[in-house]
Amino acid sequence: MIGESEIIERYFREGFVGGRGVMTGIGDDAAVLRAPSDADEIVISCDTLIEGVHFPKQDSTTHATDLGYRCLAVNLSDLAAMGADPLWFTLALSMPGADENWLREFSGGLRECAAEANIALIGGDTCRGPLVCTIQVIGSVPKGQALLRSGAAAGDAIYVSGDLGAAAAWLQSLENDGDTEDLAGLERKFWRPTAQLALGKELRQRASAAIDISDGLVCDLARILRASNVGAKLQLEKTPLCEALARRSEHEKTLKMAVAGGDDYQLCFTVSRGRQAELARLEQELNIRLTRIGEITEGDNLEIFYHDRPVSLDHAGHRHFTE
Ligand code: ADP
Ligand code: MG
Repeated sequence: MIGESEIIERYFREGFVGGRGVMTGIGDDAAVLRAPSDADEIVISCDTLIEGVHFPKQDSTTHATDLGYRCLAVNLSDLAAMGADPLWFTLALSMPGADENWLREFSGGLRECAAEANIALIGGDTCRGPLVCTIQVIGSVPKGQALLRSGAAAGDAIYVSGDLGAAAAWLQSLENDGDTEDLAGLERKFWRPTAQLALGKELRQRASAAIDISDGLVCDLARILRASNVGAKLQLEKTPLCEALARRSEHEKTLKMAVAGGDDYQLCFTVSRGRQAELARLEQELNIRLTRIGEITEGDNLEIFYHDRPVSLDHAGHRHFTE
């Protein structure tokens, strides 16, 4: 069986995009990096993905390529939500054994995602244990322009990018097998989320608050509301759905699933009223769907309506430590 150094050499050193400002990358005790410029601030985030918690157990039907892609994409999504430009990332990988086929696929997916975002792998750690992948991403943003959760104000419009619910619908389909329509498309959305990096950059100095949707729209929007000390009215029927979900017969139930479920990795953001025309332009330029789904209100309530009728959700969002 190959050892730790060979694993790093064979699968994590070659073929990744080179980074800006990497003085010393993989191979020494630590990486040495040059900060982009005095006009920038550094943005750092870290996410752990655990087998059986954040993704289904690996078996013959799952592909390590997809897992490699997803591990980095969900981290990039946090940079997108801050309006940051990706620079570098580290990878701490714990795995039960050194299966070279698995490593080839995993590092292939990781490399693909890294190339798309032009982010360099600058170091990490490799050990034996349960399958757990921790990635730390580092990016930069012009001074004072990071998108925070705390700037939403009453009267601001609430937007989401892309469409919601596909990943949650796919996870649900694993539990209650039976309904198999369009599963491949939904599955792809779970394994290959697109971090909205270009949108995040465009939202600098435009959005009053932003967050990426990892735990579900309602749960993540509530985080903006708490950080900004405001409330919101959501129009459930405005929630953008992908075609496969929009076709489903129980529309209201599907919408509730889409706003409660997680793993979308779209951006939810708020903008002042005057900026709506600008957003329509951005939608064209970036070729991405931007949907207005509600409005920020005074107070601290999140009220949800389905065609003007108040509705409640039984369960919203993924939480590790609370019910
Ligand atoms: P140390 O014993 O000092 O922690 P390691 O043998 O763990 O050193 O790592 C050697 C080099 O390889 C370091 O530069 C480290 O950052 C890098 N590295 C280790 N594991 C990975 C990995 N999974 N991906 C990328 N780089 C890694
Ligand atoms: Mg080490």
